[in-house]
Amino acid sequence: MPVWLRRTLVTLGALVVVAGAAYYWLIVESRMPSDADFPLDINQVRRAVAAVPGDKPGSVEVELIGSFQFPATAIVAGDGWGPRDVPVYSFRLVYPGTSILIDTALNEELGGGNLVTFDAEAYARMERAMAAVSLIVITHEHMDHIGGLTVHPELAAVLPSTKLTREQLAHPERSLPARFPEGLLEGYQPLDYEQYRVIAPGVALIKAPGHTPGSQMVYVQKANGEELLFLGDVAWHYRNIEVLRERARLMTQFFLKEDRTAVFGQLAALHRLHEAEPDIALVPGHDGGIVNGLLESGILKQGFAIE
Ligand SMILES: [Zn+2]
Repeated sequence: MPVWLRRTLVTLGALVVVAGAAYYWLIVESRMPSDADFPLDINQVRRAVAAVPGDKPGSVEVELIGSFQFPATAIVAGDGWGPRDVPVYSFRLVYPGTSILIDTALNEELGGGNLVTFDAEAYARMERAMAAVSLIVITHEHMDHIGGLTVHPELAAVLPSTKLTREQLAHPERSLPARFPEGLLEGYQPLDYEQYRVIAPGVALIKAPGHTPGSQMVYVQKANGEELLFLGDVAWHYRNIEVLRERARLMTQFFLKEDRTAVFGQLAALHRLHEAEPDIALVPGHDGGIVNGLLESGILKQGFAIE
């Protein structure tokens, strides 16, 4: 074999090895780091909720606002390149005479060409609900959760009902392309809390930074005793918790800039919680199968029942 050919083949071989390793690292690898840890004491949350008297939500409604589609491996690393639905939701906790909104989805303009479906009527119902609820909380500062708030036509009137946290407002770059209009947040007093915070009868926030600095889960105890835990995007799909695998590193490191170890700790804590307390409905940020199952069992109700 001529020397030049030998060198070319060796170089090509080395390139293939490097490319293979990079592919594995960025697209497939998803082992639980040994230092992943997240303290989640559900009984402490329950005790905090029990200490706040008052009517709890009688029902929990969901609106499906639109849907993205991602390759499976973007959601659960190593799951391949087949398309998976990533539906975008807003939830409403209905009390006698009042209500609370969890997450505000995004409008069609913010979603741009990435949306494969968008339900303008559902979005309009959510927008009307936002003007009427007593509280609005968001699980985290990404545009598909905070976007509907930032573009609300009566934002100045809606803002006093919101409980945005200090961490959620500290990183406006995480919300892009969603952004609050210039000057509107001047003087806004963000919510500051440590680990858990009860914000209404039957509702507690659980601080869970990792996916974003401002990520939190929302624990809900209905009047009939049913419990839900809204996870935000700690997990996009329930499968992340089931198989204890994160999104592909290409997503977490380069697009989302996640604290991957923190998210792994949360996935492990949720996995343990589900084993210990299978009746608590874990609601990932974008899992159509889970939401449809909860609709069938009556734990969730389809659509915001507002005029
Ligand atoms: Zn999301």
